[in-house]
Amino acid sequence: MYDYLIVGSGLYGSVFAHEATKRNKKCLVIDKRSHFGGNVYCENLSGINVHKYGAHIFHTNDKEIWNYVNQFAEFNNYINSPVSLSNGKLYNLPFNMNTFYQLWGVTTPQEVKEIINKQIKEFGVDKPKNLEEQALSLVGKDVYEVLIKEYTEKQWGRKATELPSFIIKRLPVRYTYNNNYFNDKYQGIPIGGYNKIIEGLLEGVEVKLGVDFFENKEDLEKLASKVVFTGKIDEYFDYNLGELEYRSLRFEHMPLEVDNFQGNAVVNYNNAEFDFTRIIEHKHFEFGTQKNTIITREYPEKWDKRKEAYYPINDSKNSKLYGEYKKLAEQKNNVIFGGRLAEYRYYDMHQVIGAALAKTKKEFSQ
Ligand code: UDP
Repeated sequence: MYDYLIVGSGLYGSVFAHEATKRNKKCLVIDKRSHFGGNVYCENLSGINVHKYGAHIFHTNDKEIWNYVNQFAEFNNYINSPVSLSNGKLYNLPFNMNTFYQLWGVTTPQEVKEIINKQIKEFGVDKPKNLEEQALSLVGKDVYEVLIKEYTEKQWGRKATELPSFIIKRLPVRYTYNNNYFNDKYQGIPIGGYNKIIEGLLEGVEVKLGVDFFENKEDLEKLASKVVFTGKIDEYFDYNLGELEYRSLRFEHMPLEVDNFQGNAVVNYNNAEFDFTRIIEHKHFEFGTQKNTIITREYPEKWDKRKEAYYPINDSKNSKLYGEYKKLAEQKNNVIFGGRLAEYRYYDMHQVIGAALAKTKKEFSQ
């Protein structure tokens, strides 16, 4: 008998397990995969930490969360500065003075503002209703057409006019020559990979891998007084109210006998002619000096029940359905739903950790 059965050993489940164990609660963590860590899991191949389920770059503004993760691993000083290939030319991201110089050849913020403001005015929408309108009223037509539209539609498999505007607000727009993709105060990659963090979190916790919760839901739930569920919320309720939509990904990992393939950890491929959205060269996350390299092409895919769900699609239809599931979840006093899939939220890692810490604080203050 356990106090908590924790379904999923990703960041949410592992933080919860750590906090509960610290308070002398008996936890069992199960995961259907053959390894722990969920999508932050890294596989070390020829000395390179390969982000098996897509690039993970840690960033936060919250000192408490930064200190929390630093208990388990030291972080390097990697700063994410992706570049984007569009129509054969490379542009810096996020949208900043370097990008604007590459687009228009202008060098001062004043000139850039004139161009962007003119384009925004020509578009003339006050209250953007979707991603396309949001982008056009934030950066104007040129940036939208060269760096956003095709990438976004490929990434999400639907028109930018059918996507929620908050997605594009993740990206900063700056009138300085600053290629840092994030605005947060703290940023880096754990030295030795993300597994170190998960190993630290799960130290002293019982973990069973290769266990599919849904193959044996009733019996497994009986093992503990409470369940922490981090999988898809609609699947937990057997899709009773209908299916939520997700976006899936396929990763094509490729070792290469060269020491440096693309000179940067992240290169985005904006145009629709490439089926993938980006190529990750993992060694650059850790300033690797190996003789060889490993790259990963990331292909967005239509999701179905046999595939992994990576991104929730937070449009109004799905948000409404999620709201219905949330009501069901609230009636289940002995189940905690947390993380990207159970809360149906486009969480970053620091937000997942923040959500799990907030939940444990509440849970153990009673
Ligand atoms: N985006 C874009 N062009 C780019 C990179 C991102 O238009 O070169 C848009 C796209 O809509 C994407 C969103 O910004 O879904 C968020 O990108 P981010 O890199 O934050 O997403 P993630 O790494 O979570 O996939």
